[in-house]
Amino acid sequence: MDNRVVLTGCANYDPEVVAEAFDRLFDPIGGLDWVKPGMRVAVKVNFVLAKSPEKAATTHPALVKELCRRLVEHGAEVTVGDSPGGPYNKAALETVYLATGMRTILETGAKLNEDFTDQEVCPPDAETIHSFRGISFLEQADAIVDFCKLKTHALMGYTGACKNMFGGIAGLYKTECHYRFPTHAQFASMLVDLCEYYKPVLSICDGVLAMEGNGPSFGDPRPMGVLAASFNPHALDLACCDLIGLQAGQVPTLAEAVRRGLCPETTDQLEIYGDPELFRVHDFKLQPLGDIQFVRNHNGIVYSFIKHFVTTRPVAGQKCVGCGKCAVVCPEKAIVIHNRRPQINHRKCVSCFCCVEFCPQGTMRPFEPFTLRLLHKARKN
Ligand code: SF4
Ligand code: SF4
Repeated sequence: MDNRVVLTGCANYDPEVVAEAFDRLFDPIGGLDWVKPGMRVAVKVNFVLAKSPEKAATTHPALVKELCRRLVEHGAEVTVGDSPGGPYNKAALETVYLATGMRTILETGAKLNEDFTDQEVCPPDAETIHSFRGISFLEQADAIVDFCKLKTHALMGYTGACKNMFGGIAGLYKTECHYRFPTHAQFASMLVDLCEYYKPVLSICDGVLAMEGNGPSFGDPRPMGVLAASFNPHALDLACCDLIGLQAGQVPTLAEAVRRGLCPETTDQLEIYGDPELFRVHDFKLQPLGDIQFVRNHNGIVYSFIKHFVTTRPVAGQKCVGCGKCAVVCPEKAIVIHNRRPQINHRKCVSCFCCVEFCPQGTMRPFEPFTLRLLHKARKN
């Protein structure tokens, strides 16, 4: 297991600052030494939604551009892409490419993915997900670079390198995973399966402008000024989580990676280049994982009580425009649109927060009942 992680400062996204940061990022570990001329390299970024770079929801185009420039210089054929939430087709992705500013990478000779086909994939060594519809863009690559964003996540607590590979599943096929893997442990095991199947050669995390609070789509940008890289995506996640106050046991994907022997449990077992203390944020607004309950559709008064009083649930706010996207992505079909407002059947809802993640207005939010807040407070005290 390669436990080397590089942490380096990158104060902003100015091209000169970014170029110097990449020198420091790659020098200690020979970041691109594996690239061979003619190699087809897929750069798997995080395109969660069509949002502008300053919202901190997507991998920043200035960083991706610098990476592409270096890969092309090494002779690679580079394609940048992702399958975000919602339909996986040309129209949807064109909107994403435009909004995220990613067209700028074309200046380097790299391409944006235009193959929106998918295919049946059966990971041979998977523990949990034995088949899925995988995007052809990643299947056809000789090597994958996993370029994630440092963000909180409403369902899994944290989204970094491991969670980023969920985008290997085509479009709306992702939502069915909430049926198939209905607990945090199962979902995390599925994510680790995907990450191990795709085996990114290199993983990089954009923590220059991170996202805290209501991530991964509508949290608040939080400047952290850090760029991180590793050949081990789980080691990278461990190091980045540590910067925002999360330990391996608090992040289901990390706990699963530790269980499988893919990364150590604590950062003192990592070989870190750079000083974590320079980037540590002590008051990072986390998404408490304990809030998210996968409560299935049970009958009876006890479950109704639990769901109502001690389960975080989605609630649509005033900015709702009745577009119905939440109803489309809901894996439990718990939402119907009535009079241009979403009506949520909370008995069906499993608190997966797909509707929160993909609401284009950012108005669907997790609501924490007063009783649950009291319980959290009591637990902390
Ligand atoms: S996706 Fe958001 S804006 Fe659209 S109907 Fe649902 S809550 Fe309203
Ligand atoms: S209503 Fe929202 S949180 Fe509930 S199951 Fe549907 S998508 Fe998931």
